[in-house]
Amino acid sequence: MITRMSTLFLRTLRDDPADAEVPSHKLLVRAGYVRRVAPGVYSWLPLGLRVLKAIENVVREEMNAIGGQEILLPALLPREPYEATNRWTEYGDALFRLKDRKGADMLLGPTHEELFATLVKGEYSSYKDMPVILYQIQTKYRDEERPRAGILRGREFVMKDAYSFDLDDAGLKKAYNAHREAYQKIFERLQIKYVIVSATSGAMGGSASEEFLAESEVGEDTFVRCLESGYAANVEAVVTHAPAPKPIDGLPEAVVHDTPDTSTIDTLVAWANETLDGEYTGADTLKNVMVKLHAPGKDPEIIGVGVPGDREVDLKRLEASVSPAEVELLTEADFTANPFLVKGYIGPKALQANGIRYLVDPRVVDGTSWMTGADEPGRHYVGLVAGRDFTPDGTVEAAEVRDGDPSPDGAGVLVSAKGIEIGHIFQLGQKYTDAFEVDVLGENGKPVRLTQGSYGVGVSRLVAVIAEQSHDDKGLRWPKTVAPFAVHLVIANKDEAAIAGAEQLAADLDAAGLEVLLDDRKASPGVKFKDAELLGMPTVVVVGRGYANGTIEIRDRFTGEAAEVAVDGAVDAVVAAARA
Ligand code: ATP
Ligand code: MG
Repeated sequence: MITRMSTLFLRTLRDDPADAEVPSHKLLVRAGYVRRVAPGVYSWLPLGLRVLKAIENVVREEMNAIGGQEILLPALLPREPYEATNRWTEYGDALFRLKDRKGADMLLGPTHEELFATLVKGEYSSYKDMPVILYQIQTKYRDEERPRAGILRGREFVMKDAYSFDLDDAGLKKAYNAHREAYQKIFERLQIKYVIVSATSGAMGGSASEEFLAESEVGEDTFVRCLESGYAANVEAVVTHAPAPKPIDGLPEAVVHDTPDTSTIDTLVAWANETLDGEYTGADTLKNVMVKLHAPGKDPEIIGVGVPGDREVDLKRLEASVSPAEVELLTEADFTANPFLVKGYIGPKALQANGIRYLVDPRVVDGTSWMTGADEPGRHYVGLVAGRDFTPDGTVEAAEVRDGDPSPDGAGVLVSAKGIEIGHIFQLGQKYTDAFEVDVLGENGKPVRLTQGSYGVGVSRLVAVIAEQSHDDKGLRWPKTVAPFAVHLVIANKDEAAIAGAEQLAADLDAAGLEVLLDDRKASPGVKFKDAELLGMPTVVVVGRGYANGTIEIRDRFTGEAAEVAVDGAVDAVVAAARA
């Protein structure tokens, strides 16, 4: 069927939407692919829906190819299964909770581990039924704190979520690897530039987990990689290389110095370089940052985090380390309530004397000597030695990761880049099957607890990701696999013979199996060309002035190249260009 612009439900906009910051958001709105209904809630218009469905189909084909079976679960869910795993509480404000008319608690599903686990428990009972991979392409709801960039981070979005169930770890690994390979095929077919990074498992629990990140400057995920070894990891997952402990014997005693007006690392270092022998940098100081942990179902706990003073505490890394607890910086009221915390001069001693848990960066090994707060205004310790003068309660991954840091695999240094998470694969293990006692009868007649994997792809987010990676200042540029139409045929000639010729060409292309968008509007060629660039079909065909001389033009939206071809044989030429 030929789609005619004269009747297509589409209005392109000249101006960028006021709330849009990133190119994909601007272009998808301007080109009439999506329309905003509320923050993070969008309608899909004809062109956008075609891209979404095309992506869905690529995902579906690759999931089917690894033996996944498609089902569809509701988005409206009862509280009980999420209560059983504590996620009703753990999910916090991100969960859309509602009540039905009888007052029963319900939610809009943010992800469906619980439901798939109980579904399998209900249907399967024998080892002979295993393994199984189930998936759905379904609408998810998360009340994101910062819905952003249109459909890139929605509060309603489409996810492909798959779950594997196996009898043992070997089976789980096999299912995990099958998904990993399927995802590689999906993202290759979609022509996305991406990396696979090892990730923290966060609130999901479980062990091995990797994320697929599309490379993009507008991404919210920072990852690091080692160009020498190919190691790549989410910043949250980077494990700091801890030096070997050093001998303590013979180190000079710790001394408290008057260090007036040195409540920052810079002023402290300046004081040391002026007053003490030797040269000092921020790395010689131990900075103690106070935070409050909010663990689900527990009272808030104040802890101290000690990091080398040349590094900031990265709250995302800290939060990943203490998950599911959330992290908050101390307020003025907290400092007032705990007068032993002397702002700018906090040291390990007062923390430990007052029963505050003190966690340090892995670089703070026994035998390292530090300049740090002496818990009195304008006073610091010099030469406070870990393992002699203070003993931390443990280590924590909280310090920022920097370009040039050693790679955890020892192969070189790390460099950072930004990415957008497009997929996530987890070996969950038995977290959910334990919660619901998902057992089948084993070969030996004894029950076997199943082990589960969980695998997500951000289907609607991918529309924005592809737009983000594939556009120019004029508009979108869809890869052929997901373009709403293969060919955008522009009638740029008012002559009746030319119009008839264009209609015939459209019919022939349609008959040849191409999806054709025909710009048959009564608008100027200039307006039509602009729209063609904005909408971004990969092949643009122009029936214009040259028609009288027996030629049409084929433009490649990717390369910008244009070629004149004879009207005779134009169908074959366009088909060849569109399928190239
Ligand atoms: P993010 O870190 O971006 O919030 P997540 O870790 O919460 O993502 P998962 O729970 O792993 O996401 O969900 C699987 C996939 O769903 C993600 O890889 C991502 O592509 C997609 N996704 C998650 N949240 C959103 C959202 N708010 N809008 C659109 N897609 C999303
Ligand atoms: Mg994730």
